[in-house]
Amino acid sequence: MAKEHNYIKKGDQVVVIAGKDSGKTGRVLRVFPKKLKAIVERVNFVKKHTKPSQQNQKGGIIEKEAPLHVSNLLLYCARCEKGARIGFKILENKTKVRYCKRCNELMDKS
Ligand SMILES: [Zn+2]
Repeated sequence: MAKEHNYIKKGDQVVVIAGKDSGKTGRVLRVFPKKLKAIVERVNFVKKHTKPSQQNQKGGIIEKEAPLHVSNLLLYCARCEKGARIGFKILENKTKVRYCKRCNELMDKS
């Protein structure tokens, strides 16, 4: 499927499979579909320098999550208890759902 990497959605539980945070899990806070990137809660922190402002008079360094490429992420399968390759199928009611290719568990529960 051409859009294979577009399966990650906001609110998903994902596992990081590459980079310095490899092995960490977190919840997707934001997705950038065109850039194929996602921000994952408490993963891929980067330090950012901030200028003094009214809220923060001193300025300084804050840590903030930076977007990760979605190819570095796998959807977490609660049944397998690890990251899973995801497939799509269409249910009888025409809903498109994601499922774990390892255990067939549906990832979208309505
Ligand atoms: Zn599974």
